[in-house]
Formats: sequence, structure tokens, C-alpha cells
Amino acid sequence: MLPSVLPMSLSFDPNTIILPVGHFIDGELISAEGAIEMRRPSDGKSYAACPVAGVDMVDRAVESAKAALKASNWGGVRPRERTKALQAWTDLIEAEAETLARIEALCSTRPVGQLIAGDIAVTAEQIRFFAEFADKEGSDLVPTDDASLGMIMSEPYGVVGAMTPWNFPISMAGWKLGPALAAGNAVVLKPSEMTPFSTVYMAQLAVKAGLPAGLVNVVLGDGPTTGTALTGHPEIAKVSFTGSTRAGSAIMENIARTGVKPMTLELGGKSPQLVFADADLDKAAAAIAGSVTFNAGQACVAGTRLIVEKSVADRVTAAILERMKAVRPAPTWDEATQYSPIISERQRARVNGIVRAAVEAGGKCLAGGAAMDHPGYFYEPTLIANVDQNNPAIVEEIFGPVLTVQTFETEDEALALSSHPTYGLASGLFTCDLSRTIRLARKLEAGTVWVNRYSRSRDHILPTGGYKRSGIGKDLGREAYLANRRTKSVLISL
Ligand code: NAD
Repeated sequence: MLPSVLPMSLSFDPNTIILPVGHFIDGELISAEGAIEMRRPSDGKSYAACPVAGVDMVDRAVESAKAALKASNWGGVRPRERTKALQAWTDLIEAEAETLARIEALCSTRPVGQLIAGDIAVTAEQIRFFAEFADKEGSDLVPTDDASLGMIMSEPYGVVGAMTPWNFPISMAGWKLGPALAAGNAVVLKPSEMTPFSTVYMAQLAVKAGLPAGLVNVVLGDGPTTGTALTGHPEIAKVSFTGSTRAGSAIMENIARTGVKPMTLELGGKSPQLVFADADLDKAAAAIAGSVTFNAGQACVAGTRLIVEKSVADRVTAAILERMKAVRPAPTWDEATQYSPIISERQRARVNGIVRAAVEAGGKCLAGGAAMDHPGYFYEPTLIANVDQNNPAIVEEIFGPVLTVQTFETEDEALALSSHPTYGLASGLFTCDLSRTIRLARKLEAGTVWVNRYSRSRDHILPTGGYKRSGIGKDLGREAYLANRRTKSVLISL
């Protein structure tokens, strides 16, 4: 008789997970008293308290990073050594994917199945992508007269200070750590106080994989205390931030006050999706519904403003409504879960508050508009019609599963509606007209234009970043690597 092989399941009991609670400095987990209560988004149960690093702890982390750079000569070794070390780390991230996924699924809004197939697999791939730049991008010899030799010398900054948001904690840690380390820097990273432990675990894996202790330090805490201490630290040579436009402004202010330094800011969005009557409408509806229900709309690039040609508006909205109504709330620790909770009760109340304000301003809810009758912080996928450009659901980044719908009759009208006074992160365009595609791709005011799709691919060479107040600089792509190097002009008289 053949042995029966039970199917492996990724589902797990959230009460059995051991979390690395503490700062991670110089290769050591430093436990500290928790100050911020943490609740599981999937069922609202309190499970831990996040410590808050003050100025002294941040200082200790920065000193550890400086010492590690000096002792290991990380920025000066043969670049291929950095590539190999980072590859060893990504191999371990993949080998430990299940543990990492469980930590993340317990604390965040990311379902365990999506973490294994998506976030973690892609993060390992992206870190490898950046590791490959280490021995390919470098200094340049430049044309001068023949009595001189001119060089543009490329160097790492030293210690990079990074802050990440709660919506995709592992991916965001990879976006910051991958290019900064490949480029020869050390990093002090402050993850969100709502989802810090997967980042701590990734840092532990880095040391386990052989990266010098102190090269990756993680300090836990909130923005006003820990974040301010980090961005204002005189030995932080460059700041790399992903989060809200509000926090981005506070960081710029703090940097201006404490001393000038370069920064990359990846901020909020309110991205439009334009659908023309000649598009594959079923595909468009699937992509649009997917973009606002994936992670319950808690994505910077979520395409939250549907702008659809009037003649096909009913058909497209009906197809989106059907998909919205099909979502099923379930805990992030169940393998089959596809629909995420909102990160916290507070954030869910904020989402609901904007929806209520939108309705008061004349908006009409075609679906959703309320919290789900289910444990945890789930919110119904929501579609709001009858909104003008001043409606709160159009103006505010909601960061929840909320889509607005507006209609147009001409291309100019569509373009006018797509423009947002604050944000310009991403945009979607659904049409089969090639000339229109090029015309609008040129005119849309956004750092990304997706045509006949609305999602990232695994082409990590495409940079991501915002126009307007959606940010400064880019993550991913060559740009993200180069943003972690500075250049020096050297002119030699021969
Ligand atoms: P947030 O701005 O509240 O927090 C992000 C991080 O910054 C956290 O670690 C937080 O503690 C820290 N922080 C807050 N204030 C700070 C300060 N004054 N100084 C230093 N650090 C500070 O954002 P969030 O609520 O965690 O995440 C949601 C936001 O992130 C949304 O606006 C979303 O659009 C944005 N986001 C942008 C991208 C992108 O690539 N553009 C990607 C993901 C998320």
C-alpha cells in the first residue's frame, strides 16, 4: 500500500508563533519594554507591545552601523563579495519563508498564502536584482584635454536611515535594504510600529547568512520619537522613507531643521484608472476590482478612482460590483484567505469616516460603505458614484477598499478628471487604441502608467515613485541603486 501523503498546509495557529520582540543592533536582539499595544488585524486580539527606541538606542544603532562598515570594509571590498553575501541572505529568506510568513501574517494584513507566493518570493528576487548591480555600476572616466584625467568617482554614503510603512512590511524592508546594502552602505531601519517583527527577523537572517553584524540594524518605535531621532541623527548620511505624504513632510522639516541631507521619499497616492469603450472591458473590470480589493486597498498604488467612458460605465461598474461582492473575509493565517482586514480599528474608523463624509457630500454608495460583520477589522469593498472633484472620496487617500466612479465623454474630459491636486503616484489606462495609449501615457501626471493591466510585474528594472506630492526619487530600478551612491568629481593634472 502506498503511504498516504497529507497535503502540506500553510495555515497555522496564531497563538503558537514566537515573535522576535526587540531592537536588533550589532547582530543582537535587544529586548526592551513594550510601549505600544499591538492587536492582530484578523481578530483584534492583543498579542504584543512594541518598544519605542529613544535617542540613546538610535545612537547605539548608528554607532553599530558605523563600526560594522569600518571593521568589514563593506563599501570597499570587491563588489562581487557583496553580491555573494546578499545572495546567501536571499537563499536563507527563501529557506525560512514559512517562519517569516507566519510572523508577518500574524501581525499584518497580509495573508499567509499571498506572502509565500508573492511578497517573500518577490522580495528575495528584488534583493538579488540589486545585489547584481554591485559589480556593474561604478565610476566613469570622462572626456578632458589630454593633459588631464577626469573621473566621476562613485561611492556609498555610509549609514542610511530608513523608515517603512505597515502595508507590505517585508517588501518595503527589501526595497530599502536591497539597494542600500548592495551599494555598500550600512542601514538603520525603523519599520512601522504596527508591523515591526518580520523586519527584525529578516535582519536576524542577514547575520545568520554571514553579513557582518551591525550592517543591518532595526530600531523599533513610532515616528515622532524614533523616526525623528533617526532622520535627525548627524551620522545618518541619507534618508530613505516610504509612508504617507504627511509623515514625508514632517521628515523634510526635521531634516531641514537638523541639517541638510539627501532623501528619497515614496509617499501617498490617489491613482486614477481610465477605461475607454474600446478596451477589453471584462479584463479592465477584473484589474480594477483586484487593485482595490488586494490587501483591502492598503497599497500606495491602489487604483482608487475609476474614470470610465459613459457609454460603457454601467457594464464596467456591474462587473466590478460582482467581484466586490464575491470577497470573503478570513484570517490572514488561513492558507486560502484572499481578502485582508484593515490594519487597525483606528484605520478602519478613518476609512469609514471618509466614506460617510463622501456620502454627506452627495456621493452614492453602490456597494459596501460599512465595517464587515466579522471578527477583526474587515471593511466591505465599497464603490461610490455621484462624486465631484471636491468630494472627500476623490480628494483623500483613503487607504482602504474604496473605489469612486466618474464618467466622461471625451478624452480631454477623462484627462481633466484624472489629474489630482496632490498626488501623482500611478495610473491605469484601458484602451486598444495605440495612438491614444501613447498620447495619454505622455500626458498622465504620474510616476507609473499601466496600460491594459493594473499591477506591478516582476520587471524590477522599472522604477517606482511619484510625481507631485507622491514623492521624491525612486524605489526599484537602477535609480534606486544609484540613489544609494554619491559621486565625486576628480580631475588630475598629468
Ligand atoms: P506613515 O507615514 O504613518 O508611517 C510610515 C513610517 O514612517 C512608519 O514607520 C512611521 O512610524 C514612520 N514615521 C511617521 N512619522 C514619522 C516622522 N515624523 N519621522 C520619521 N518617521 C516617521 O504611513 P503608514 O500609515 O505606515 O503607511 C501608509 C502610507 O504609506 C500611505 O500613505 C501609502 O500611500 C504610503 N506608501 C507609499 C508607498 C510608495 O511606494 N509610494 C508604498 C507603500 C506605502
